[in-house]
Amino acid sequence: MEELKKIEGKENKMDKIVNLCLRRGILFPSNEIYGSMAGFFDYGPVGVELKKNIENNWWKFVVNDRDNIVGIDGALINVSKVWKASGHVDSFNDPLVECKKCHLRFRADQLIEEELKISMDGVGVKQLQELIDKHKIKCPKCGGDFTEVQVFNLMFKTHVGAIENDASLMYLRPETAQLIFTDFKRVLAVSRKKLPFGMAQIGKAFRNEISPRNFVFRSREFSQMELEFFINPEKMNDAEIKEDDLKTECFFYTQEMQEKNIKHEKMSFEHALEKKIIGTKWHAYWMIEFFKWFKSIGIKPENLRFRQHVKTELSHYSSETWDLDYNYPWGWKEVEGIANRTDFDLKQHSKFSGDELSFFDEKEKKKIIPFVIEPSTGVERTLLTVLIDAYSEREDGRVFLDLKASIAPVKIAVLPLMPKEELEKKARGVFDDLKNKIVCDYDSSGSIGKRYSRFDEIGTPFAVTIDYQTLEDDTVTLRYRNDMRQERIKISGLSEKMKELIDE
Ligand code: ATP
Repeated sequence: MEELKKIEGKENKMDKIVNLCLRRGILFPSNEIYGSMAGFFDYGPVGVELKKNIENNWWKFVVNDRDNIVGIDGALINVSKVWKASGHVDSFNDPLVECKKCHLRFRADQLIEEELKISMDGVGVKQLQELIDKHKIKCPKCGGDFTEVQVFNLMFKTHVGAIENDASLMYLRPETAQLIFTDFKRVLAVSRKKLPFGMAQIGKAFRNEISPRNFVFRSREFSQMELEFFINPEKMNDAEIKEDDLKTECFFYTQEMQEKNIKHEKMSFEHALEKKIIGTKWHAYWMIEFFKWFKSIGIKPENLRFRQHVKTELSHYSSETWDLDYNYPWGWKEVEGIANRTDFDLKQHSKFSGDELSFFDEKEKKKIIPFVIEPSTGVERTLLTVLIDAYSEREDGRVFLDLKASIAPVKIAVLPLMPKEELEKKARGVFDDLKNKIVCDYDSSGSIGKRYSRFDEIGTPFAVTIDYQTLEDDTVTLRYRNDMRQERIKISGLSEKMKELIDE
């Protein structure tokens, strides 16, 4: 069991990020004016742009840039058979304890993690009970004793139509993946793809988490970006991985390291494959691809590691799972899971629906039930990870977000030096010309220093300032966010230059 890190400075950083999100309206509790319910959030104008940029970036990387992956967008509320077949009705549970005195309910593993400062990944209900008994863990609120650890199903139920009975029982989807499996047959027919191929989806998921926490890290309504990549089970090692990618190094935290309670180690994917640490080449392929993707949206690789699920922790459908963990202020935790779901889901849905979900191989003249590698990522968790990784302070305490231009909500701030008519007129002209090509914002209120700071706080990488010299020689000041350096450039070449800088 790994020691959970608790570094004061880092905790303080999280408060500052939450504060920034509220102050700048990036993300905030939903239904605020009525006293919100924990685990539900709304995005404000800046947050919604950042969210869309992350989603669009993922969609381009996964779907648009490849010819063997297609997208879908499935319904949020599904008939109960879908979730019976998938195993969620029977086993999508978290361990729960209730205080006998004040009746507050806690997630048992989180309670113990907080009390003992050790990771509970993969620890079963029996062991959790033993730890609570051994360490005499009491209710943090009133000091009361707890009930025995029970399991609690995380799915939200609803009844559809005017009659409430078993037939009208439906569930809000707790993951997007199952819609891909239930749509498999139709999408395969219309897209005419051959194995290996993938289906991807971005959309809402709902989980009745016992204790939502760490801001949007664990919420009850969130979005997922999921890919189900279907492969002939006999060809799980046929992935072609570029030499450079194989040589890529990152931190690995294997089952063995966790059992021996030693720290994660840096190694290459090549080494991990050779030593059979990663089970199949297709699994390694998608681990590499998403390690690259997280780096491409600006996450520092030293803050990422792949942690293998220990045997007791594997989901009912998985033969092998690797979490991509980020080093959060409250310790290393999952931002993405990459699982080998085998043929579990297609077989289950074939059994429950009576519809055969398989692929017919024309060459070999046989039906194949593909295996599936599933990279699954939370949008909010990714967004929070981006914010934590990008949060920076200058020596004087002023904040800036070191966001990549590709995901920054606003790419360029267009600012007249002062709110004077002649400067505003010129600045409006510059803004109108740029805004058709690049997402920019115009602001003329307050001192120029305050305006720079406002845009730094939402990660705007560039500011263009129009001053009295502009009126004379048609040049503007271009200011760079991180080092605040400034240069003078001609308006005529401005949009070209800005496009170049953003593409960099
Ligand atoms: P955890 O162990 O943190 O509960 P999980 O293993 O249940 O996560 P998965 O079922 O693998 O998560 O879901 C895939 C991804 O969806 C996660 O990596 C995470 O980014 C996101 N996710 C899962 N649950 C939540 C939640 N309650 N709030 C926000 N994002 C979530």
